[in-house]
Amino acid sequence: MASLTFYGAAQQVTGSCYLIETQHHRILLECGIRQGRDKRVDENEKPFEFDPASIDAVLISHAHLDHSGLVPLLVKRGYNGPVYTSTVTHGLLPIMYRDAASLLRSDYERKNRRLMRAGKKAVEPPYTIEDVERALGQVTGIDYGNRQKIFPDIELRFLDAGHILGSTIVELWLNQGETVRKLVFSGDLGNSCAPLLNDPAVVSEADIVLLESTYGDRNHRPLVDTLEEFNGVIEAAASTGGNILIPAFAVGRTQDLIYWLGLLYHEGRLRGQKVFIDSPMAIKVSNVYERYHHLFNQDDPHFREFMKQGWDNWLPGLTYTQSPEESMALNRVNAGAIIIAGSGMCTGGRIMHHLKHNLWREKTHVVIVGYQAIGTLGRVLVDGATRVKIFGDEIAVKAQIHTLGGFSAHAGQDQLLSWAVNFQAPGPRLCLVHGEPDAMQSLQQRFIQEHQWKAHIPAMGEMISI
Ligand code: ZN
Repeated sequence: MASLTFYGAAQQVTGSCYLIETQHHRILLECGIRQGRDKRVDENEKPFEFDPASIDAVLISHAHLDHSGLVPLLVKRGYNGPVYTSTVTHGLLPIMYRDAASLLRSDYERKNRRLMRAGKKAVEPPYTIEDVERALGQVTGIDYGNRQKIFPDIELRFLDAGHILGSTIVELWLNQGETVRKLVFSGDLGNSCAPLLNDPAVVSEADIVLLESTYGDRNHRPLVDTLEEFNGVIEAAASTGGNILIPAFAVGRTQDLIYWLGLLYHEGRLRGQKVFIDSPMAIKVSNVYERYHHLFNQDDPHFREFMKQGWDNWLPGLTYTQSPEESMALNRVNAGAIIIAGSGMCTGGRIMHHLKHNLWREKTHVVIVGYQAIGTLGRVLVDGATRVKIFGDEIAVKAQIHTLGGFSAHAGQDQLLSWAVNFQAPGPRLCLVHGEPDAMQSLQQRFIQEHQWKAHIPAMGEMISI
């Protein structure tokens, strides 16, 4: 008898982590960091709820850190088996992990200077670049659609989830003597209105399905309306002369924004604003995107044009700022700049400096284009705070905050439902994960009302049999 335990992203959005145990093997599905309120105090550095050395294989659905970020710590604490992911994610993880390790190092240097000044002992960061390099050595990339035996009794296949490049839906066949049980994990499912990426692959067979429910309670506005709204913000900023700040993940969201801004440029609607990608990581990620062009949605109406021009020419005047000095110099620009920087939920990174220097100005526009977890600065801004604390300074929020849900990289409620009903009646056992409780309940209601299908909402630490 096999079992599944929910160690993360259970009634919350971040910290994805599920343990599958069969008679012979222990497989960790996802090993992500917790962010915002989900994080609590240093939760990412606590001991794992299982012995890392006892795990036989790790599966990672996509490169976002809330799905993949704790692998280096897992390795440091004794895991030395394989980490399976898609071929593209294999290309993205070195960029993500090395960046995370260098942020961690500077955080701890700062922390230790403070501790030593107070006459206290310095502390060690949870993991270092050496652990990252060791972890990267354990990663194996598998192409979409390639069904692979990872153990004599367990097979694995990744399908395109259309969320970011390289994102996957995970299919796992567990051979238990007489019977084979199939588990499907949706990963983060893409928004089928998003540009460039394919729609999430259709899956029709499973015994148990884990379905993400980030936007389980709402649908996004159509993309055309969202692009108009975005253009409206750009025009408003152009006429009053303020900067536009866009917090964005370096992976996926930043490349989408380059694409959308390029579209507006080609329609003659960008009026001399300069676009800055303030992220040393984003340029490396864009290079990976360039390398895997063949995985994009070839039916996208603008794709051919985009391909012809390439990332570099698609948006003339685009500037990548690399060094901290170049980034700091942007603080002196008072108007006419569109600044895209991480982190996507304003929990750190270069966007914090830009917020500090611009939030108090009435002419500033902040455009929120991605999900903001409870407890993050991004969520506080979306919820209408009038004052916030950044680096210990109190900052008045006079800027206009715009939330453009239609740019989401996640499926909306209808899309989640229509992906799940592809499974053959009477429908597999369905567990909702990766969502806040309200979103999960709302999605659960719709499954019951429209399909008489009762979805389970597992609690943190709950174990179920497969
Ligand atoms: Zn994601």
